[in-house]
Amino acid sequence: MTRTLASRMDRIGTETAFAVLARARQLEAQGREVVHLQIGEPDFDTPSNIIDAGVEALRSGWTHYGPAAGDPELRQAIVDYIRRSRGADYRPEQVLVTPGGKPIMFFLITALLEAGDEAIFPDPGFPIYQSMIEFTGAKAVPIALREENDFSLDVDELRSLVTDRTKLLIINSPANPTGGALSQADLEAIAELAIANDLIVLADEIYAELLYDGEHHSIAALPGMAERTVILDGFSKTYAMTGWRLGYGLFPEWLVEPVVTLMVNSNSCTSVAVQRAGLEALTGPQDAVGEFREAFMRRRELIVSGLNAIPGITCVMPKGAFYAFPNITATGMTSQQFADYLLEDYGVAAVAGTSFGAAGEGYIRISYATSEANLEKALGLIGQAVSALPVS
Ligand code: PLP
Repeated sequence: MTRTLASRMDRIGTETAFAVLARARQLEAQGREVVHLQIGEPDFDTPSNIIDAGVEALRSGWTHYGPAAGDPELRQAIVDYIRRSRGADYRPEQVLVTPGGKPIMFFLITALLEAGDEAIFPDPGFPIYQSMIEFTGAKAVPIALREENDFSLDVDELRSLVTDRTKLLIINSPANPTGGALSQADLEAIAELAIANDLIVLADEIYAELLYDGEHHSIAALPGMAERTVILDGFSKTYAMTGWRLGYGLFPEWLVEPVVTLMVNSNSCTSVAVQRAGLEALTGPQDAVGEFREAFMRRRELIVSGLNAIPGITCVMPKGAFYAFPNITATGMTSQQFADYLLEDYGVAAVAGTSFGAAGEGYIRISYATSEANLEKALGLIGQAVSALPVS
């Protein structure tokens, strides 16, 4: 029996947070207690009006295949939401609904890139960007996000990375894993660069509703940008719906048909009942969104001030999302060593900064999408772990 994989499988990466979760579960099976700070999902339940809409949809016959591109009512609601929240103009035909936001990366990058192309991605950044770019055979070019810039990007540095082969630029604001956010001035400079160099921009705005300082702006709202921007967004983070798998992209017209073809070749359509729940999420009461945001803001204060109180650890205040990205270089350990040490010796599951790119060396990612009691416990354990190390 042949067991040879296609060579393209050598080029695909993964998301380490899931591996950390698996190791944490192993330790728990051995009777160890673990504080989970590794996974990027709200700990809240989905608001009950959304659950009711999903159940009601199942009971009333939303159990058959639907259009590959998505439920027309949901696509309209998404266009209205994006116009309301971002001031960006798309038509319902440009909205493609997918099982989570992640497939938008898979579909867009597969449709767009091939060997010989270059794509610029944020480093540290969501690991699937680099993974998917490399999977297509294209060259993945990192733009470093630095602590001294509050994890925003340096537009001059970005400009220096653009070549005549650059086809795609990925931005993510507010960002995973750093919590950084791009200002309107950054977006304007990036838009100018994208237009001058004829780049497609993938704007991953999955954390748009979780910005704590200032207002979220979309690059797609800037003049000339909707026609070259794919907005990625979804329901996982905003409405605590990670397990439902519901997300979407808003695409320039010429990309719609190729992406729908990829969808027909893979998922056929997104669960139609789940899409009805999504419609309720966007058009029903929004109180829960504000409550989640307020809870995350309190936790952000708690974790960042607690980390900064530990000698040897420093942490900038994240502007959005639900991650802290503390600098751990003073421990004398690499990111991976420190993350392993925390989990194995102290039962704190966090992710090494290098899981998000080479520029993540010297950091770990802590998800504060967990209770204040868990965060207090984790801070105590991290403090003990650091104080047990030889002073460097
Ligand atoms: N984009 C970023 C930056 C993320 O952190 C995530 C999830 O962690 C996603 C996209 C995808 O989320 P989902 O597929 O659950 O919508």
